Amino acid sequence: MKTKNLNNIRNIGIMAHIDAGKTTTTERILFYTGLTHKLGEVHDGTAVMDWMEQEQTRGITITSAAISCFWKDRKINIIDTPGHVDFTVEVERSLRVIDGGILLLDAKNGVEAQTEAVWHQACKYAIPSLIFINKMDMVGANYKNALEEIKNILKIQPLLMTLPIGDEKNFEGLISLISMKAYYYSGKFGEDLQIKDIPESYMEAAFDSRNKMIEILADYNTELMVKYLNEEIISEDFLDKIIRQATLSNEIVPVFLGAAYKNKGVQNLLDGIVKYLPSPSDRPEIKGFDLEEKDKVRQARDDVPFSGLIFKVSTDPFVGKLSYLRVYSGIIRVGDLLLNPRVLKEEKIQKIIEIQANNRKEVDQGSTGDIIAVVGLKHTTTGDTLTDKKDQIIYESIDFPEPVIYRAVEAKTPGDYDKMMDSLYKLEEEDPTLKIRTDSETGQTLISGMGELHLEIILDRLIKEFNVKVNTGQPQVTYKESIRNKVVADYTLTKSAGHQVLYAYVKLRVKPNKRGYGHKLSRASLENVPIQYIKACQDGINHSLKSGVISGYEVIDLDIEILELGYKVDQSSEVAFISAGATALTQALKKGNSELLEPIFKVEVHMPETYIGEVIDDMNKRMGLILESKIGGLGHILKAHVPLSKMFGYATDLRSITHGHGYYSMVFSHYDWI
Ligand code: GDP
Ligand code: MG
Repeated sequence: MKTKNLNNIRNIGIMAHIDAGKTTTTERILFYTGLTHKLGEVHDGTAVMDWMEQEQTRGITITSAAISCFWKDRKINIIDTPGHVDFTVEVERSLRVIDGGILLLDAKNGVEAQTEAVWHQACKYAIPSLIFINKMDMVGANYKNALEEIKNILKIQPLLMTLPIGDEKNFEGLISLISMKAYYYSGKFGEDLQIKDIPESYMEAAFDSRNKMIEILADYNTELMVKYLNEEIISEDFLDKIIRQATLSNEIVPVFLGAAYKNKGVQNLLDGIVKYLPSPSDRPEIKGFDLEEKDKVRQARDDVPFSGLIFKVSTDPFVGKLSYLRVYSGIIRVGDLLLNPRVLKEEKIQKIIEIQANNRKEVDQGSTGDIIAVVGLKHTTTGDTLTDKKDQIIYESIDFPEPVIYRAVEAKTPGDYDKMMDSLYKLEEEDPTLKIRTDSETGQTLISGMGELHLEIILDRLIKEFNVKVNTGQPQVTYKESIRNKVVADYTLTKSAGHQVLYAYVKLRVKPNKRGYGHKLSRASLENVPIQYIKACQDGINHSLKSGVISGYEVIDLDIEILELGYKVDQSSEVAFISAGATALTQALKKGNSELLEPIFKVEVHMPETYIGEVIDDMNKRMGLILESKIGGLGHILKAHVPLSKMFGYATDLRSITHGHGYYSMVFSHYDWI
């Protein structure tokens, strides 16, 4: 076995607002690291990372394919993350398994709606990151403005690493404030890096900026402060060390500049990735639980029992079900029998595959820190842990956002019904934000997801990949329900079933949980009540939470406590408690006057100044709540909270109001009362 140094691995994800240049930058990275020999461009549909057919035809990046490449003897695993709001799930699951991030900004637009959303997601996982301000060659590029927005909106201290030589169309190269050299990118694709002295006219600006950088860093390191005040020489290595420390502790983000499309600045970014972003061993202990839900940790080392997290499942026409895995500890080998602790089932590893976007390489093992795919898992889905059978650990699952939109689908020919359902279930297995259900009243099949585009792509795949023809209904908003006040409700089940009498008594206290915090289910001590009855009651409650009392929409954000359970030795059973638990919760919802909630989106509109009045009037008609109105971008930027149900058709309306000069983006914000 080849021994591997964990310090040499970088598992990273690139996060951005759509169109900031993620695909273009990734393609450059793959080219400079020698993985591709020809540059694919987004506009001609040849980009390596955008490997699904829909992505190529729509020019967006949807699924997070993983890809490995090497730079200066370091292995970089890039987990691609999509830029479109409908695919936040892809971002969420990538964030769960990466160690470091790159946040990409468009130099003209600075921090945009999705930049902010994805940054907040990343903050939840405390992922050390770099920022790449792309499109420095474009008219209106303004990195200083972007730096201000990073500070004010993302609330993190940016540390500018390079200065541009030339502006906009004349953007020629970069000055590194660490090496104090000028970088130029010649050759057809900028692959021929030329390192020269800083041009005379940039000397003063470069020294000023370097001093500013050191002043910021000195706040985190007294040794540097002393050296700076004493005007001692500060070495590159010393600066790099402090930048790395401050990045790893999430105190600063190093900011690089460039223009990926013009082949400038990407190599400096690559250097930054290997120098400043963490390796798997920078997170020495990974926190999880044992099977009794007590805290347990694992060392990130090869010579300890295996553990890993499945972060993506996809169906592949050639090998079947591929499960993408991040190895957190130990080694996984072909033929291993591992445990899925959620379902307590054993899984056999049939194949291990290293992923290179649309290429794959079969390997015989994966070790700590690796991102790989495995074949052969039968009971395991996204978010599950796989662990050594004897020394077990379970990691927290991945948080997935709730679907906000649904559509009815029906097979064009009735004979195709089974094939359609079969295909939909396969798609559902791949995608935790896709939900398939049957409307209990109409019998219609409903598919729910994260947005119009998400469902369109699912339907597209149904037709193209699975060859099923379907009719579809209009997209509808998915409402939720919840209660506003605290209630206590109880229910006694007494029912005769054949010769037997069933008995169960359940008393619950139910109150609203904080919005967005999900359900909390706890219980009083319930002494002497058999544990299987308590579990059965919980199952019943969970069952009722799936469809509320108003129109069958899901119930959200309740804090439920089981106060009392009553049983009779001869008459109580698990079935009786499932039923009583379910009914008791339904009673509580009715008593608490459960009300509908609707999804609210944060909408950001960019437009020239002259249209601002009309755009605001239109927002008011849509019941939008204006959050901010400021100068920037195309002239003016407006931010508002708007109910999703009022946003259908907005693209067309905005186009007509602004005569094609405005654009917008939106991200899910929260659920609120109608
Ligand atoms: P993504 O949505 O973040 O993956 O963005 P893409 O990589 O698909 O880029 C969006 C568009 O911006 C494409 O037309 C790119 O060619 C263009 N683009 C990307 N980077 C640059 C750049 O540095 N300069 C210029 N002028 N255009 C760029
Ligand atoms: Mg893309």
